[in-house]
Amino acid sequence: MTTITNTPSQNSSDSLKKATNGSKGPLTSRPTREEAEDAVRTLIAWTGDDPTREGLVDTPKRVVKAYDEFFKGYKEDALEILSRTFEDVDGYDDMVMLRGIDMSSHCEHHMVPIIGQVHVAYIPSDKVVGISKLARIVETFAKRLQTQETMTAQIANVIDTGLTPRGTAVFIEAEHQCMSMRGVNKPNVATITTRFTGVFQDDSDLRNRFLGMINNGK
Ligand SMILES: [Zn+2]
Repeated sequence: MTTITNTPSQNSSDSLKKATNGSKGPLTSRPTREEAEDAVRTLIAWTGDDPTREGLVDTPKRVVKAYDEFFKGYKEDALEILSRTFEDVDGYDDMVMLRGIDMSSHCEHHMVPIIGQVHVAYIPSDKVVGISKLARIVETFAKRLQTQETMTAQIANVIDTGLTPRGTAVFIEAEHQCMSMRGVNKPNVATITTRFTGVFQDDSDLRNRFLGMINNGK
């Protein structure tokens, strides 16, 4: 087997940067694409199947390509996504909410899917952000190896840091394939996590309004 050294073309996709505030992906030394494909071949053999049979021969390539998508969040900086804000909102100071953002992630313990929905709200202080940016930060954190608890906190924290709102609310409901397909084998169980900061933490009426708005969509 040829030894592959790090040429620029292999490094071009390696824009992993050191985590400074949780908004960026962590720093890791990245194996080459070929090494990643070899690892998939090893896992196929571990299942008991033959990685050289026709149906499986291109699978390592496909899996590694899929991983580029599943884990693209390591190349994105969530705080950077929130950096373009707007102050001209004619004094709008009530809740801004995105309800029902579809989310698919992978659990960091078994690397199998977590599939669900995220509801995000904040009460602006002096600035707002383009609403699609909130969906993008959800995507950035979802496309990493995750726990639902960590992801919930990361989304709330980056909104607090990036927008300094009067309060932030994050609600995630998701099904974990590691619980429905293996282990306790319990499908259709929703795991719910929440994080409330600022006025959402202090004001139970506001919190209930947010929770009510989630349920209005069902
Ligand atoms: Zn798991």
